[in-house]
Amino acid sequence: MTKERKPVAIPVYQRVEDIPVREVTVAEGNLDKTVVPLYLFSDTGVVDPVAVIDKLRAELSNRCWWLMPEWRDKGLPKEQLSVSSDRLKIEVFNFGTRLDDQEVEDFKAMASIYSQLRGEMEYTTILISDARSKNDYTGEALNGQGYPDARMIKIDPHAREKKPHRVYEVSNFLGTLIHEGAHPYVSGEHDVRILNSWTDEFGWHMSSNALLTPGGFPQSQFVDEPDRTISDYAKFNPGEDFCESVVAAIFAPERLDLGRFNFLDRELGVTGVQMGNNDGIGVVRRSGNKIILPRLSEVAYYVKIMKPIRMAQP
Ligand SMILES: [Zn+2]
Repeated sequence: MTKERKPVAIPVYQRVEDIPVREVTVAEGNLDKTVVPLYLFSDTGVVDPVAVIDKLRAELSNRCWWLMPEWRDKGLPKEQLSVSSDRLKIEVFNFGTRLDDQEVEDFKAMASIYSQLRGEMEYTTILISDARSKNDYTGEALNGQGYPDARMIKIDPHAREKKPHRVYEVSNFLGTLIHEGAHPYVSGEHDVRILNSWTDEFGWHMSSNALLTPGGFPQSQFVDEPDRTISDYAKFNPGEDFCESVVAAIFAPERLDLGRFNFLDRELGVTGVQMGNNDGIGVVRRSGNKIILPRLSEVAYYVKIMKPIRMAQP
């Protein structure tokens, strides 16, 4: 008797138009992450219902990468890597060339490191792009970029080139993963305490004389003692200083300014991180029709927050 092979359906992206939506009032919704707040401007209190739904769909697309045209237009990811420990789960969707063994190991190392650091790893998705883009600070090829609303990191092909990371002692790929994974600690989305104390403790200040970075991005924050930073990239702003320092604290602690190391030890527990043992990290690799695309399985709730037009910010 031969076993019949059941054909696996081709994965299909969810469409934003197919997601059921329902309005709640401020009293019903606690404005947590499951209720999307829509800020609407009107002097009469009346807004076009079509415009409301359009705005909600735009908000959902900001939060869900699979609704974003720039990713959907690439077609299906070539492979998916589900990396998990008892503390976190990261879904990697790869639109570029196939991951090599070292890159898979680097994802395991990232999961292991972030499982050992204090706090929750807020980025749960990593998308590997097939297209190069430019870093706004340096004007050079981008390694990676975080998208806090979508809890996602984008990795560009440049990060996969076999060369050392800016901070050294580590590959560009793993250094980029650790750097990007550190951004939520100082994104200021939920808790500005760490960013504020880093800014104070290491002498970052604003200047009205913004300089243009080589990439053309205005730089308005400057550090008093630039020589204490671990890389040129750390000199752009306190957030980059923090993320570069996390990479150094893990891979080259002896090269990092002691004040910064102590800060990271106090907040994240960097001295407790054990390297090289990824036994507790599980990896499931899928490709082709086995890829499981994410989807919102529930109703998208939203709450309308009306503001008069005269309050609208430019
Ligand atoms: Zn960064």
